[in-house]
Amino acid sequence: MWYNNILETIGNTPLVKLNKLTKDIEATVLAKIETTNPGNSIKDRMAIKMIADAEKSGKLKPGGTIIEGTSGNTGMGLAIAAVIKGYKCIFTTTDKQSKEKVDALKAFGAEVIVCPTDVEPEDPRSYYSVSTRLEKETPNSWKPNQYDNLSNSAAHYEQTGPEIWEQTEGKITHLVVGVGTGGTISGAGKYLKEKNPNIKLWGIDTYGSVFKKYKETGIMDEKEIYPYITEGIGEDFLPKNVNFDLIDRFEKVTDKDAALMTREIARKEGIFAGNSAGAAIAGLLQLKEHLKPEDVVVVIFHDHGTRYMGKMYNDDWLRERGFLEDEKLTAKSILSK
Ligand code: PMP
Repeated sequence: MWYNNILETIGNTPLVKLNKLTKDIEATVLAKIETTNPGNSIKDRMAIKMIADAEKSGKLKPGGTIIEGTSGNTGMGLAIAAVIKGYKCIFTTTDKQSKEKVDALKAFGAEVIVCPTDVEPEDPRSYYSVSTRLEKETPNSWKPNQYDNLSNSAAHYEQTGPEIWEQTEGKITHLVVGVGTGGTISGAGKYLKEKNPNIKLWGIDTYGSVFKKYKETGIMDEKEIYPYITEGIGEDFLPKNVNFDLIDRFEKVTDKDAALMTREIARKEGIFAGNSAGAAIAGLLQLKEHLKPEDVVVVIFHDHGTRYMGKMYNDDWLRERGFLEDEKLTAKSILSK
């Protein structure tokens, strides 16, 4: 039996019990490991759904150019689908993103334009503005706009949510997810809450992002916005894919805790995951007193550790940011909190 092309291998990712990292948590903690997708991240799922829906609605036409502002993982999914389906890709990204992510996009023939991080979204130099301008200037082009395109959360409603429900045989009580566009938590979470309204959705946020404050106060507080290091999660605006009514709570995790915990996942569980997996586990540990022994927690591990070789898997990178105080190479301080 074979697949007709690589896109057919997207999804059906493994759910793996964590044994050492979460030993202080009495509940069962399961990681949904999205690294086995062809682009090594969960974003393959929504990339092919956004393309399929755009083809259906006629927004994306044969031979067209896909233009998107992406931190890398969505770009990978789009770039792989573009190879198979015959589209061109131009991506704008920020200088905060790993070089590995940018080079991976280029490996699939995509053009990548790196833009400054520390500018307002409305600034003409921002990666949002540059991609919007390119879309206007490029004939036969389409901008998926993963933040506001609801095909993003629909992919997780149709695929990720049902997989988690089946893999846990309906026993899941909590879904813990790093929130960026909001597609994963809102789509998978909607499906799961329809199955069992008691399931709790915990969104993991970063310091420097607006989500938690907005959920708690309804205020889009500009003071919450400042540069941060953690990749893939947190935003300085409110994407349409974040369903704040559905999400039960947000928890913020520091850059340092997220970075050190990412390393711990490899060292304690043998799972080579990306930065937002570390943030999600660190956030879950911060919330451990809200869990009971009979709870079954699913944590999404969005992407693969190879994309972060020059970052948290590199001691010099950690040292330069003061994350290796006293040359402590582990996240013991977080684990014992
Ligand atoms: N982690 C990583 C590494 C990501 O690339 C993303 C996507 N921005 C997320 C978490 C958050 O996923 P979502 O966009 O579905 O909220």
